[in-house]
Amino acid sequence: MRDIQTVINSITEKMLPRLGAAKVADYIPELAKVDPKQFGIAVTTVDGQTFVAGDAKVQFSIQSISKVFMLTLALGKTGESVWKRVGREPSGSAFNSIVQLEREMGIPRNPFVNAGAIVVTDMVLAGHQPREAIGEVLRFVRYLADDETISIDNRVAKSEQTTGYRNFALANFMSSFGNLHHPVDHTLGVYFHQCALSMNCVQLARAGLFLANRGRNPVTGHSVVSEKRARRINALMLTCGHYDGSGDFAYHVGLPGKSGVGGGILVVAPGKASVAVWSPGLNEVGNSALGSVALEMLANEMGWSVFGA
Ligand code: GLU
Repeated sequence: MRDIQTVINSITEKMLPRLGAAKVADYIPELAKVDPKQFGIAVTTVDGQTFVAGDAKVQFSIQSISKVFMLTLALGKTGESVWKRVGREPSGSAFNSIVQLEREMGIPRNPFVNAGAIVVTDMVLAGHQPREAIGEVLRFVRYLADDETISIDNRVAKSEQTTGYRNFALANFMSSFGNLHHPVDHTLGVYFHQCALSMNCVQLARAGLFLANRGRNPVTGHSVVSEKRARRINALMLTCGHYDGSGDFAYHVGLPGKSGVGGGILVVAPGKASVAVWSPGLNEVGNSALGSVALEMLANEMGWSVFGA
């Protein structure tokens, strides 16, 4: 196995000349302001060491990566009954697509596209006021990362609240099928805040470490989920974590991962490490362009793949 620090230093160096070529997400006005010329990576191994390179300590909007933490919370609250309201199949459609919802009676394809995540958020909201649910999400992510400084960027949440017409359409459509149990503005209020969690690569890699270590955070000793549940969340990340680019990501990187339109990607190398990469420029399906390339290089160099040693 190659030395992780040497590998990520060399990957970061290769990324530098390519910075700024891809465009940042601009449908959320606050995200459009982010400088695309940034790249960071953090690797936290299951023995608790963290390796960083580039802009690994710069905060960014984790956006859809929060869908992994929300699913973990919802499964903890309601167990397998989550799957009565959301499916487990790759969508083959864009992250914000509405088309399948009509054919499938308001049941979204999986928890990692927007419609599915909105339903999962609705489950986490059960029994709470939106403000309490947002507090619960924040506490959970701080607990996972063992870092009390993690916060929500309210400007990003507000920015999406005022322009998120697509998400309002998805939520209203699902409500018409009875698949949301709270007022649309309550559920989306929580959804926009979870997407606006502001984290850096180090915090994100640490928050995902339980998934690389059979459900238990090896640094804090916290048992977050059972081994079986960790395996299943990883399976969903592999099959559904990159929107309609999930097959391509599995082909090139071969590891479970979840991306967000803020340009972050969280990747799990089971039994080995949790990796967070961030570069705000996106490819055509909305995944970090350089992040995807960097992860392919890392997986190749380290020999990390769920499809064989
Ligand atoms: N908040 C974003 C949205 O709902 C998340 C999208 C993403 O990261 O995939 O559009």
